[in-house]
Amino acid sequence: MTARILVVDDVDANVRLLEAKLSAEYYDVLTATDGPSALAVAAREQPDIVLLDVMMPGMDGFEVCRRLKDDASTRHIPVVLVTALDGRQDRITGLDAGADEFLTKPLDDLFLFSRVKSLTRLKLVIDELRQREASGRKLGAIEGVGSRLAATGGRVLIVDDQERQAQRIAAELSVEHRPVIETEPEKALLTARGPVDLLIVNACARGFDGLRLCAQIRSDEHSRHLPILAIVDVDDRARVVKALDLGVNDILARPVDPQELAARVRTQIKRKRYTDFLRTNLDHSLELAVTDQLTGLHNRRYMFGQLKALVDRSRQGGEPVSALLIDLDHFKSVNDGFGHDVGDEVLREFAVRLATNVRAIDLPCRFGGEEFCVIMPDTRLEDAQRIAERIRLHVGGSPFRVAGGNERLNCTISIGVAATTGEGDTPDKLLKRADAALYQAKAEGRNRVIASAA
Ligand code: GH3
Ligand code: MG
Ligand code: MG
Repeated sequence: MTARILVVDDVDANVRLLEAKLSAEYYDVLTATDGPSALAVAAREQPDIVLLDVMMPGMDGFEVCRRLKDDASTRHIPVVLVTALDGRQDRITGLDAGADEFLTKPLDDLFLFSRVKSLTRLKLVIDELRQREASGRKLGAIEGVGSRLAATGGRVLIVDDQERQAQRIAAELSVEHRPVIETEPEKALLTARGPVDLLIVNACARGFDGLRLCAQIRSDEHSRHLPILAIVDVDDRARVVKALDLGVNDILARPVDPQELAARVRTQIKRKRYTDFLRTNLDHSLELAVTDQLTGLHNRRYMFGQLKALVDRSRQGGEPVSALLIDLDHFKSVNDGFGHDVGDEVLREFAVRLATNVRAIDLPCRFGGEEFCVIMPDTRLEDAQRIAERIRLHVGGSPFRVAGGNERLNCTISIGVAATTGEGDTPDKLLKRADAALYQAKAEGRNRVIASAA
């Protein structure tokens, strides 16, 4: 898994050293030696990660980071700040500026590559989500990323059997968030499936294996997207690397520094909200793509996809598929007499009656306008005709209440029914036969069901 990395440092020798190290591991390297050109390169080249020196004349690394995170076109790119060895205050300022990670100079190759690897993985997920979100937006289905997402009020699950440390962390976090402590990993696994924004695991717990818990969280489909912050001994390098390999999002060194804790928690929660936002939009856009907005029934596009699969199956020796095409009678006069809004109400009420009068395996859809259809898997023509008759009676049998229950309207429908004939049949032919039958039902006086003879 390779990535394009933008290296920013005002000292040319540092740039070249990093470039050599990264290139040797087959990363693509872009470079910049000051803040403004780093911003320009990031916007133009859209790197996967930015490695950013803090100390630069003119615009320093914090400011570059802040601007990258303020700009919608670069906000999603992970930023790693490179700070001085004991730059505790730098780290806190950096995280506040929106940095995703930091490394200390001189760079330790092990940490450099494990951080780069874990950020590359995260970037892949975010890119995938952003791409799908963008195509959803093109369909007009979803809104763009709104204003900045809040980083407070997060539900934080702390898993630790060292009670005093856990209490201290909870007390510090409770200023901005809602922390909960769990001392047993089995219970933590269950809680993590619920509404939690961040998991803090003590990887040095005495009574359980914290890294095993991280692995279990990652392999459980209900919690695999949950960000994890692991508390480790930074001197235990093997464990740090193992944790990052397992997909832990961030590391906190023991003893836990309260300000660093607060900043890292904020970063993780903000990132979680961003990916949640993208995911929700994605789910929403997928739902919109298959649903008719007015009635909540499936739409025509969805119906065609399902119908094709069902017709293929029936042609390969399966049971026949039936289709009902339904059209409301004289619907234009409802609109003309009562207004378009009342017309919409009738369509919604009809959709409810339709959906409650077909079987669970049937697919009621809005075909368009005041035309609907029901696809019926494994259904012979006679059975489809019987169901169509039931629907017709249920619609014509009682008036529709509209305009807040003040008006009652009598509506009737005409239905054309067709079933697949086996060899050589297609969705198009099936729907054409149903349409011809519907036309005949209209011609013969409406409020009736006609089954296609073919
Ligand atoms: P017929 O019995 O021959 O089907 O007569 P009809 O009046 O139902 O047929 P026609 O196709 O002439 O008119 C359909 C009407 O449905 C016209 C159109 O304005 C209305 N219509 C289509 N979609 C909607 C909608 O989403 N909402 C509302 N309120 N009306 C719609
Ligand atoms: Mg019509
Ligand atoms: Mg009509």
